[in-house]
Amino acid sequence: MRLSLIIPCFNEEEVLNLFMDRTAPVIETIREKHGIDTEYIFINDGSTDGTLAILKQLHAEKPSVHYISFSRNFGKEAALYAGLEAADGDFTAMMDVDLQDPPEMLIQMADILVSGRADCAAARRMNRDGEPFLRSWFARRFYSLINRSGNPDLAEGVRDYRMMTKQVRDAVLSMCEYNRFSKGIFAWVGFRTEWIPYEHTDRAAGKSKWSFKDLTYYAIEGLVGYTVKPLEIAAWAGIVFFLLSMIGIVFIIVRKLIFGDPVAGWPSLVCIILFCSGVQLFCTGIIGQYLAKTYLEVKKRPVYIVAETDQAFRKM
Ligand code: UDP
Ligand code: MG
Repeated sequence: MRLSLIIPCFNEEEVLNLFMDRTAPVIETIREKHGIDTEYIFINDGSTDGTLAILKQLHAEKPSVHYISFSRNFGKEAALYAGLEAADGDFTAMMDVDLQDPPEMLIQMADILVSGRADCAAARRMNRDGEPFLRSWFARRFYSLINRSGNPDLAEGVRDYRMMTKQVRDAVLSMCEYNRFSKGIFAWVGFRTEWIPYEHTDRAAGKSKWSFKDLTYYAIEGLVGYTVKPLEIAAWAGIVFFLLSMIGIVFIIVRKLIFGDPVAGWPSLVCIILFCSGVQLFCTGIIGQYLAKTYLEVKKRPVYIVAETDQAFRKM
């Protein structure tokens, strides 16, 4: 049996060798225990440092190391997709290169898949220690919002670290959308998933590519990519404001008829106008988000472009 291990890399020269040192014994254990051979599929996501050179060197040293190098930075989701397309092992796993995903867990994941208890074994982070307060607060809000969307729930603290059977891999690949939100895609395809809890660790070296701004965009992308609930909310907001305005109109007419009150207080009017146009712009913005996504989707652009790879991968 064979395991394809997908590892996206973006400017990771500092950790690549550490990663190989730590995974090698794990791979060996999996081979001894289950007779599974592992192939590494590194995706160089447009790194500007020495990542590609190191990958080439690793490939020269070890035949089980493969690399796919993108023509520019396409983002981690695109890298994962390229990896899934290239992987054709009986099992496929994906993990970060920065050792925040403890390689030792691959053994547990392989145990689960081999036993047939589940089709997918995934790591789930149990603590958010060491993360800025605001960041974890927003993360929690994000999950509670997305889980009211009517789609399958996203478990909180799920990372992209997981191992799956060929069946799950094919299901994920069959979703060939351009706007990819892996966590949502994995929840959507279903299958039996077993969660493995683990404690969050810091990066081995280098620094995270995610700024707070990136995470905010990621959250919006995730929401828009996974659910159309915000559109519904916008529609409901419209109905609520319409009803409120009707009540207001009746109130003013009645007041005029009874008290003959002339129009008074333009400040309140200005506030109402500002408030309502704010809500309108907000709702238009939501629609705009979906329109933009639809636009990108109908263009049918490729998810990634390969500049070079060490072998003619099957589907490229
Ligand atoms: N990564 C990538 N393309 C990008 C950003 C990140 O392939 O545009 C890779 C990166 O090399 C790492 C993984 O995705 O292997 C996770 O990135 P990072 O550690 O920066 O994210 P975090 O762990 O903070 O979520
Ligand atoms: Mg990381």
